[in-house]
Amino acid sequence: MSAAPATSPSRSRDGTAASLLNDEERARIRAKSAQFAPPPAALPDGRRDLVGLSREELTDIMVEIGEKPFRTKQLWHWIYHQGATDFSRMSSIARPLQEKLAERFVIGRPGVVTEQTSQDSTRKFLFRFRDGQEAETVYIPDRQEDRGAVCISSQVGCTLSCTFCHTGTQALVRNLGAAEIVGQFMAARDSYGEWPSPKGETPRLLSTIVLMGMGEPLYNYDNVAKAMRIIMDGEGIGLSRRRITLSTSGVVPMMDQCGAELGINLAVSLHAVRDDLRDEIVPLNRKYPIREVIAACRRYPAASNARRITFEYIMLRGINDSEADARELVRLISGIPAKVNLIPFNPWPGSSYRPSTREQLDRFAKIVMDAGFASPIRMPRGRDILAACGQLRTESQRLRRAAGQPDAAPEAEDAGA
Ligand code: SF4
Repeated sequence: MSAAPATSPSRSRDGTAASLLNDEERARIRAKSAQFAPPPAALPDGRRDLVGLSREELTDIMVEIGEKPFRTKQLWHWIYHQGATDFSRMSSIARPLQEKLAERFVIGRPGVVTEQTSQDSTRKFLFRFRDGQEAETVYIPDRQEDRGAVCISSQVGCTLSCTFCHTGTQALVRNLGAAEIVGQFMAARDSYGEWPSPKGETPRLLSTIVLMGMGEPLYNYDNVAKAMRIIMDGEGIGLSRRRITLSTSGVVPMMDQCGAELGINLAVSLHAVRDDLRDEIVPLNRKYPIREVIAACRRYPAASNARRITFEYIMLRGINDSEADARELVRLISGIPAKVNLIPFNPWPGSSYRPSTREQLDRFAKIVMDAGFASPIRMPRGRDILAACGQLRTESQRLRRAAGQPDAAPEAEDAGA
């Protein structure tokens, strides 16, 4: 298991925001992230995947092969609006060019290893990428309406070792590339037959994205940002920034960057209201303590009453679920347009935590609600297919091991600190 990040020697617990908000800190995080870069998005025969390229990159490639830049617009439409995976389907492109493109490029999707649908209609995909690495994606339908959220992974494994999270017991293997992040959403759409992309407010099943699957998305910011820009592009998938939520354990310098550049919704895995406890539950707290995380939330530009910051709070019996904890939570987030998702803990073998009682959950929720914050108790979804929070991939990996199948790759070192 990777080591927990250590406190930076250059910063004290009550260090100022100014000491954090500098390019040096972001450059350091990016340099570390680059050590876990995904492999090139290409096939062994040299054909390159067009999914995951920015418009500018796509244009450069068209020019390289002697085509006019306007081909980008056509290809973008076919790839991201129509969902085409075959150049021969692109009826607005002449046959000779279709053939030329097919010789050089592919429009890829991750391979579907398994696809399971829960009794509550949650659907979990285990995807395999070209180098054999795997990650899980979950579609969680809304209970009332014909829509739902796609929970996407951003890394294979995770570096953060949050102690309540079974997924976090798997060390980081590598970051997912933009093609692999967009590809999860596109492959889920394939499964629901949701092409061409619905326009504007036309109802769609896969209506929101939550970056809450495996991994810390802000430790893979460049790939995540590129993927989200592709998904938000109005001439393709066209999902509004209001329909995308990134969940972080509190990588403060990158929260600022995400807010400034992407303006998507933010969810913060808070889980404790005292630093001594959060140091233990979310070890990243030793690097970015509660005070700095909350200050970054106050600065987050997309936060407003219409677009509240979500605080995720896992309810652990006798650990973080007292009424005093609830009151301190309310004090901490006072003045932030926010809601608090209370998550019942999902016990897993080897974990010493127990879920809070229903009575305690209700008491906690009431204090938060009485202070003016929505505090829904998030009931676990897809439990029968092991798709609930913190269970991603771990069970798939265990089942594969039990069946005598090897893991895809060796474990890697901590990339976070
Ligand atoms: S909760 Fe998220 S960030 Fe923490 S270990 Fe699990 S996957 Fe990683």
